[in-house]
Parts: sequence; C-alpha cells; structure tokens
Amino acid sequence: MSWSKIPGQEFAKNVLQNQLREERLSHAYLFSGAKGLGKKALALELAAASLCSRENFESCGRCLNCQKISHDNHPDVQVFGPAESKKSLGIDVIRELQRELALKPFEAGRRFFVIEKAEEMTAQAANSLLKSLEDPPAYTVLILLVSEESRLLPTIISRCQQLNLHPLSREKIASLLQKQGIRPQFASHIARLAAGSPGRAQELAEKEELLERRNEVLNFLAGLEQKNDIEIFSAVSKWSDWFAEDFPLIQILSEWCRDLIVYSCSRSEDVRNHNFLQDIEAIATSSNFDQLSRMLELVEKAADDIDANVMSDLVLSVLFFELKTLMEADETEKVDLQASVYQGSDL
Ligand SMILES: [Zn+2]
Repeated sequence: MSWSKIPGQEFAKNVLQNQLREERLSHAYLFSGAKGLGKKALALELAAASLCSRENFESCGRCLNCQKISHDNHPDVQVFGPAESKKSLGIDVIRELQRELALKPFEAGRRFFVIEKAEEMTAQAANSLLKSLEDPPAYTVLILLVSEESRLLPTIISRCQQLNLHPLSREKIASLLQKQGIRPQFASHIARLAAGSPGRAQELAEKEELLERRNEVLNFLAGLEQKNDIEIFSAVSKWSDWFAEDFPLIQILSEWCRDLIVYSCSRSEDVRNHNFLQDIEAIATSSNFDQLSRMLELVEKAADDIDANVMSDLVLSVLFFELKTLMEADETEKVDLQASVYQGSDL
C-alpha cells in the first residue's frame, strides 16, 4: 500500500501527508464516507507512512514495520470494530481499546488505533470512548471510520478532525477496472452499479455470484406483479440467507426504486440498473410518482426495521407483498393517488 494506491481522495491524502511532514498529526480523526471508498486503507496508510523505517512520509511496503502493518500484526497499529457475531460495537471492545491505549509504543514512536464502523457503538461504548478522546495519551492517534456520521454523538465528532471521503466518478472507476484487464463494456457496467465506490466495484468484478444474485433480484422485481404468494415466500426465504451473508439486498431494492423515480421524472436513461432499462421504463410509465415514492418509503422503512433487529425474513416478506399491492393498484386508484399529490397545491 502507498498513498497512490488509494484511488481518488486527493484532498484527504494531501491533508494527512502534510500533517505527517509537519509533525502535527491529530490525536483523533474521523474518516467518513460510504462503504468501499477506502477509509480503512487510508487509516492504515497513515499508520504505515508514519511508522515506515524509511521515514519518507509514505509506506515503502518492504520494511519490517510496513510488512507487519500489511499483515495485521504490528503491535502499534490495532484495528477494533464490532465483534464478528454482533452488529453493534459494545463497551467490551472500547474497554479493550482503553487497556491498549494505556500502553506505551512497543516498537515505534506512535500508536495507531483504528475503530471500524464507529457508528455502531452502543451509547455506553460511545460515552466511554468520549473520555479517551478528551484526554488521549500523547503518542496515540485514534482513527474512527464511519459510513453514517449522523449516528455518532456530536461530542465525539467535535473531538475529532474530520475528513470526508467522496465517491469517485464513473469514468474513474471504469478506468481503474480496465487497468486490471477488465473489458471496457463490463467495466462500464460495473462502474455504473458501484455508485462511486471503488471497493464495491472491485467486489462486483471479483465475485461473479454477486452480479448473478443482483440480476435475479431485479428480474423478480420487474415481474413482481405476476408473482404468486408461494413464489414470493420462497424468494424471500432464499434472499434472507443471502442477506445474512452481507448481500446488499436493501441497497439493490432502494436503487431499483430510485431508478424508477429518476425515469418517471426525467425519462432519463441514465439509471443505475441500465441492463433493466426496458423493465424500468415499463413500470415507471405505468405508475405515478406517488406510487413510486411510496415504494421507496417502504424499502427505507424495511431497512429501519431490520436495523432495529426485526427478523429480516419477516420484514422482507411484508415488504414484497406491500410492493406488489402498490404495483397492482388499478387505474382508478392510480388516478386517486395522483390527485392526492396535487391536493393543497395552489395550481
Ligand atoms: Zn516501510
């Protein structure tokens, strides 16, 4: 790893490199941005660039320090996060971090502590971490990684130097993929689905079954109106298993609804699921805006319910039946829905 191997994020990289050169690293950082933008890679590069024996403000990848960091066994660079079986990040993890914080550096002048998915901290964990952020030992650098910054305590955010990571352009992602030998048309297809995230693009390019599963879900959605109860239950049962394996089902459903809304509003063919353009056109033109935005609301509510630990197969079953009912609303109901959009309008 080196700074140049992290795609995009020039602003964040420049800030960190300058602070490193000028010996004024913060004691606490907050790297925020969507999954796959390179938050962890940036945190580990900062640690490696700081601890590299060549002292060149960049990791060399060859010295013992760089090697240990890349193999995740440097005693002065530690990564914490929710335990594997848990969604939330509990007080036990923060206590373990605090025990480590109290120790002086083993091999280097600084110690780096990375906290992944920091937004998953329980209230107790967050309050405990706050104390460490108020009075960190001089030789430590804490780096919190978050996808949803709004879920962090404002008092935690205010004690960190925040660096926002930004999505990359579709062209940039396609070009990164092509440099790996991926043919242009496929690279462009993946770049469209990756939503600016090079990590997500890489995952889609490497795991064929992800695209197959995605297409299966989209095919089902495109024909949802014709599906019977048994077909819906059996699909949900299968997808609940995928969901448990971290398959981004809710994200796919949400992107599908957004594509329908984009097409309905603008007739733009620049939709994410471009390979389903015909289906998107058919559904978007036979539905009204109110129906489509209601579909998106249902998906967002399902995401909230799953976050609140309601059983995912139950939530998904209810969601698909509700989506089907919405799509089946007959023309009279569609007109009524349309009328309700304009109620209260001065026009
Ligand atoms: Zn090195």
